Amino acid sequence: MESSFSSLYLHIPFCIKRCNYCGFYSLPYHEEIEAIFLSAILNEIRLTKDFPHLIKTIYIGGGTPSCLPASNFEKILEALQKNYKFIDKVEFTVEINPGTITKEKINLLKTYGVNRISIGVQSFLDKELSFLGRIHDVKEAIKTVYMVLNSGIENISIDLIFGIPGQTLDSFKFSLNVATSLQIRHISIYELNIERCTHLEKKVNEGKVRLLNEKVIEQMYMIIPELLEKKGFYKYEISNFAQKGFECLHNINYWLRGPYLGLGPSAHSYLNKKRFHNPVDIFLYCESLQRNKLSWIDDCKIDEIDELKEKIILGLRMKKGIIINKTCLIEFFKDLENFGLTRVDYNRVYLTDKGMLLSNEIFVKVLSHIENCSVCKQE
Ligand code: SF4
Repeated sequence: MESSFSSLYLHIPFCIKRCNYCGFYSLPYHEEIEAIFLSAILNEIRLTKDFPHLIKTIYIGGGTPSCLPASNFEKILEALQKNYKFIDKVEFTVEINPGTITKEKINLLKTYGVNRISIGVQSFLDKELSFLGRIHDVKEAIKTVYMVLNSGIENISIDLIFGIPGQTLDSFKFSLNVATSLQIRHISIYELNIERCTHLEKKVNEGKVRLLNEKVIEQMYMIIPELLEKKGFYKYEISNFAQKGFECLHNINYWLRGPYLGLGPSAHSYLNKKRFHNPVDIFLYCESLQRNKLSWIDDCKIDEIDELKEKIILGLRMKKGIIINKTCLIEFFKDLENFGLTRVDYNRVYLTDKGMLLSNEIFVKVLSHIENCSVCKQE
């Protein structure tokens, strides 16, 4: 292990109940499984503590980290604190969900240096929350924001979703307005995707749920920057908006392809120009760590062409764009400029808001261009 990592991700795979749209790996909270998981993750921390590192950002995500009982959460926080080295001003984020958090848990997080909280609110309308199958209502969501603020943690982010069947442009604007009326610093806004094997996919296939049409989804995405800018939040990435100085440094490290270590089932890592991850299945993950063995799989070396592809699809997510030094790729992006999807300024390339909305399609095109273009590979 040569190169040093500066970001750490820790995945807690439990949720109280599966939401209707969720395609992430998570399982219902279960005391006995949690006990096995806890011993595995503590082992993983111990086995990786001597890798070269100085941590600038740490992110505990899930699942629903806040569904862990406070005493067990404390064991993880304590182990992180004891085993890794952090810079003084480390950005330390924990994801929480309304309905799973208490004052006691928030105060515990604060005691261990957590200084950023990301809250899975999703909507400020009860009807939409119930469609999504969330366990909380709007009252609970607002109560959670105040609970965090009262603890003294002021760097709060909330997640919202647009494109929910039944949502209108007005109801989406309502959620944005309520969000910005709260004392928060950051908002992540994701389009609802129909993930495979979800309750939502089943309902759509049975014809019981009608999806919003693309025009409405486009209108929703396009109103976000202007509406949020008026409230002091600027767009710095496809789905992320922040007050100046409150951008999420942990995610920026991903987009800039900085090294990071991921702990917990399904967590991904990027170290020494290799990408690998832990098994998605919690039992496979725990079984390996019970034998004091890291459970990394799919160890894959990133070559120069992979690096170029990653630089483009990760870097272009950010509003500030990227510098590209290959003339054939500059030409490729100049062609998209004619459709209002990109902006090319000498060798700096940006996605426009419309380009960001259609980023997945653009990324597929650019990857296939790189694969098939001999000039790109040589330049
Ligand atoms: S709380 Fe989050 S991770 Fe858990 S089921 Fe719902 S969307 Fe998925």
